[in-house]
Amino acid sequence: MSGPEPAPHPAPLRVRGATKSYGGTLAVDGVDLDLDPGELLVLVGPSGCGKSTLLRTIAGLSALDAGTIEVAGAAVDDGRRATPPEQRPVGMVFQDHTLFPHLTLADNVGFGLRRRSATDRRRRVEDLLELVGIGHLARRYPHEVSGGERQRASVARAVAPRPALLLLDEPFAALDPNLREQVRAELVSLLRVTATPAVFVSHDQAEALALGDRLAVMRAGRLVQVGAGPEVYDRPVDRFVARFLGDASFLPVAIDGGRPRTELGPLDLDGGEVAAGAVAVVRPADVTLAPVVGEAVDEVVGEVVDRSYQGPTWTYDLRLPSGSVVRATPPRTLVLERGDRAAVVLRDRRPALVAG
Ligand code: ADP
Repeated sequence: MSGPEPAPHPAPLRVRGATKSYGGTLAVDGVDLDLDPGELLVLVGPSGCGKSTLLRTIAGLSALDAGTIEVAGAAVDDGRRATPPEQRPVGMVFQDHTLFPHLTLADNVGFGLRRRSATDRRRRVEDLLELVGIGHLARRYPHEVSGGERQRASVARAVAPRPALLLLDEPFAALDPNLREQVRAELVSLLRVTATPAVFVSHDQAEALALGDRLAVMRAGRLVQVGAGPEVYDRPVDRFVARFLGDASFLPVAIDGGRPRTELGPLDLDGGEVAAGAVAVVRPADVTLAPVVGEAVDEVVGEVVDRSYQGPTWTYDLRLPSGSVVRATPPRTLVLERGDRAAVVLRDRRPALVAG
């Protein structure tokens, strides 16, 4: 007779009904969340929606009021008792680098490896510093390197003890955009090479879409949608998610002869798929504009009511005959002025529909 089989790969993170209030503020409200082995999940949402609070409860920096958290199959918080942070197999990286100022980068990275042999420790530190591209700075102190280099060292230090889970709270928010992109790419390859699962908090939707295997979108303490980038961007569950992840216009959907349509023409959707009062989510890149030649009969003509220069494209807001406004980012060869008219075509005939 053999005993019960242990789970071969317990999920790095399993959260059920996580709830946390501060006084009268319900900061985290019944959150369920699972992480797969090796997965990078980005937690996004507007400021104050509870992202940091959720991360802090996973880290053990604050305790749940109710619910459970398991890390690598072990309960670390059951709503009554919370394991202290230093006893959780969890690494953390915050925006404000938290390196010890009196230790070199190498000693900072090796700090959590004091129980290993000196040879083991030295090898691991060297490998990790190389992986994050700062092997040549091993003997420098934190104040002798740049902000980006300090954050690379912070990431290496958090990964060094091989945590079951890495938590990152807006770690690169203070870096300038070009550097942020580079350090982010390095982080992703480090997580892949070391197969470290991670939860990354961000309030930046472009960062979230670029970075995460999956996104968890949070609003007012709750997770409103969890899924891969294209799933959440192309199939948002509501207006809030659609707007939060990027520019979107919303056009009312009507049923005409059994077929759904917007003001910009028929949709390739089944009438039965359309709930009463639904609106189509229209992304600017899915709208094309063409100059109006002569009397436009078959075309829907809009008037440019606003425009802004983005570098790679111009963004135009066009008022349609009904008064609805759609946003478009046509190729930069087309330049329109305020007051110009253009034929407006919706290229995506299967847009997401959300409640109006
Ligand atoms: P986010 O990280 O998404 O910006 P937070 O988790 O920091 O959001 O905050 C969620 C809510 O909880 C906010 O209303 C915030 O004001 C409140 N809050 C966070 N930390 C504390 C605290 N230590 N004391 C009281 N209220 C807090």
